[in-house]
Amino acid sequence: MERFQTARNLSILFLLGTVTASCSIPAAPAKPLTLQGRTMGTTYHVSIAHRTLAPEQLAMLHAGIEKRLEGINKLMSTYDPQSEISRFNRSRSGKPFPVSPETAEVVEEALTFARDSGGAFDPTVGPLVDLWGFGPGKSQRSVPSDKAIGKTIRSVGHSRLRVVDGAPALIKDIPGLRVDLGAIAKGYGVDTVAALLVEGGFTDFMVEIGGEVVAHGLNPDGERWRIGIDQPADNALPGQDLSAVVPLSGAALATSGNYRNFFLKGGKRYSHFIDPKTGKPITHMLASVSVIAPTCMTADAAATTVMVLGPERGKTWIRRHPDWEAMLLIGKPDGTFDAVATKGFPDYLPDPVPGT
Ligand code: AMP
Ligand code: MG
Repeated sequence: MERFQTARNLSILFLLGTVTASCSIPAAPAKPLTLQGRTMGTTYHVSIAHRTLAPEQLAMLHAGIEKRLEGINKLMSTYDPQSEISRFNRSRSGKPFPVSPETAEVVEEALTFARDSGGAFDPTVGPLVDLWGFGPGKSQRSVPSDKAIGKTIRSVGHSRLRVVDGAPALIKDIPGLRVDLGAIAKGYGVDTVAALLVEGGFTDFMVEIGGEVVAHGLNPDGERWRIGIDQPADNALPGQDLSAVVPLSGAALATSGNYRNFFLKGGKRYSHFIDPKTGKPITHMLASVSVIAPTCMTADAAATTVMVLGPERGKTWIRRHPDWEAMLLIGKPDGTFDAVATKGFPDYLPDPVPGT
């Protein structure tokens, strides 16, 4: 049976905030406990409902969360030259490079996505991301020569990267190979903070890093947490215009979009999603993808994968994963968007669809 549907049921999305989305941000309910800060080059927010904590308890919880997130950055951030992954990236050796179990787990998951998507998702795409000016420390964004693309693409390929189990290690088969976990690590960070809260006995909370979200239990109003999905308006601030409000509990929601990190040249949009096959940014009309999945690491990687695959191949790929739900917003020449979603996605709409 067709899993995707267009138009009618989804029109409710547009009634909620008028069109097109891409980064998911929390639509704040009434007075939860809130903690926030910066991590992974972006911001994080935690909201906790149905609990009172003394200020010092809240400060301790905040410190615990910060410590955990700093720990992940020290392992996986390509923005920190001393991180475990940056040191692996600099190494040109083909010998096993010992890494933490956490890094091994995330790289293994990234490689699973790479294989499952026929290489559309590729954690070794970093040299191409940098070449196009989307990497750490690069502000100059320009179209590289075909020669430069051809040369750089030779350092890319998920099949040249392996994870060794046991005492975990990474092995690169080509000296210039590098790992970029930017499309999956935020989701991992969200899952980690959520696990820390569960361990602490919290049952009703929402965790968000840079638009990737996990929600557990109920919000302070006794309802599922309400997560806003942004319209994909160029360079709009998160939460400026929402295209949908998704009630979420016991699940994760991640959104990838082409409207925040991009440059325009010769009337063409070059965004930070690189097709590893061509070595070039994607050029299709898919503006944003939101995925609901059991874990945020999965939702994060899946949303990026669909962005790289594009609308048609992305839909086909999502259909193969029946326990995920997805909504795609596809740009039209007149500047508006078509929304298509898996059948389960509208179940997450807060209000009944009029006339059904
Ligand atoms: P996200 O915001 O989770 O969709 O991830 C965006 C980031 O993914 C970019 O900034 C790149 O670092 C990275 N990226 C770009 N193209 C790919 C790709 N084909 N596979 C995996 N990661 C990618
Ligand atoms: Mg992602």
